[in-house]
Formats: sequence, C-alpha cells, structure tokens
Amino acid sequence: MKSFKLEIVNPERVVVSEEVESVVLPAVDGFLGILRNHVPIFGGLDIGVIRYRKEGKSHTVACNLGVFEMRENTLRVLADTAERGEDIDVLRAQEAKKRAERRLQEKAQDLDYVRAELALKRAIARLKAAAGEGKGR
Ligand code: ATP
Repeated sequence: MKSFKLEIVNPERVVVSEEVESVVLPAVDGFLGILRNHVPIFGGLDIGVIRYRKEGKSHTVACNLGVFEMRENTLRVLADTAERGEDIDVLRAQEAKKRAERRLQEKAQDLDYVRAELALKRAIARLKAAAGEGKGR
C-alpha cells in the first residue's frame, strides 16, 4: 500500500507520527483529501475532525485551529489543540457543548459570541472524533 508520513502536533506534544494511507482534514476552505504524492500544499486548519487510514483502519483526531503543510510525502499538521479519538473525555466535551449552547441561547449582553461559537465547534468536533473511532470507515 502506498503510504506517506502524517505528523500531528500541538504546542505540548506529538499526537500522531505514523505512516498512513490517506488523510481527510478540515481546511478553512473545505475538506481536503490527501494521498501519497500529493502536490505541495500549505493551508489553514479549521476546527474539526481529521480522519486517516492506516493498515485499512480508520482513525480520528479532533483538531483546533492551526496550519498544515504537505511536502515530500510528509503531511505536518500544527494545531492549537489535538486529541486522538480514543483519548477524548466524552463527558467533558458534552459539558463544554452544553455550556457553550447555554451561553449562545442566553445571549447575555456581555457574551463573547465568537468565543462561545468556537467552544461549541471544538466540543462538537471532540464528540464526533470520539464516536468515529474504530468504526473501520
Ligand atoms: P473545556 O471547556 O472542557 O476546557 P475547551 O474547548 O475550552 O474545553 P481547550 O482550551 O480547547 O478546551 O483545551 C485545553 C486542553 O484540554 C488541551 O490540552 C486539550 O487537548 C484538552 N481537552 C479539552 N477538552 C478535552 C476533552 N474533551 N478530552 C480530552 N482532552 C481535552
């Protein structure tokens, strides 16, 4: 199987460093699929779920805003936060989602709308990544 290197790092640690067969990531302008020998590309990463296949199995990583670069068969992703699906604390993400939804519904005068929206998006991405782990897609 034709593979390439995937590295996902956050400011604290390396989350993924593996040979993979394919990656789909949430770029700021839409989802991007990457296979071996993809042309060099650099872009902004959106909050969402990175999916990759390794040895026929699907894996997920919830990611925050960041950047990515594909060059010489290495895809490097640098995100503010990134967690593997299996490492996600689902209860914590559910609580964060509820909190953000409550804030957005209450529409308090001093509400930082963008901050609440981003928190909601992160929580949804974490829940999706946790649910998508190991389903073989
Ligand atoms: P919370 O309100 O629950 O802290 P948050 O979206 O504000 O959520 P972040 O600021 O994005 O949290 O992340 C802070 C740290 O906690 C990061 O290291 C991130 O990887 C980790 N983290 C956040 N939520 C989860 C979760 N549900 N499961 C595992 N790690 C998490």
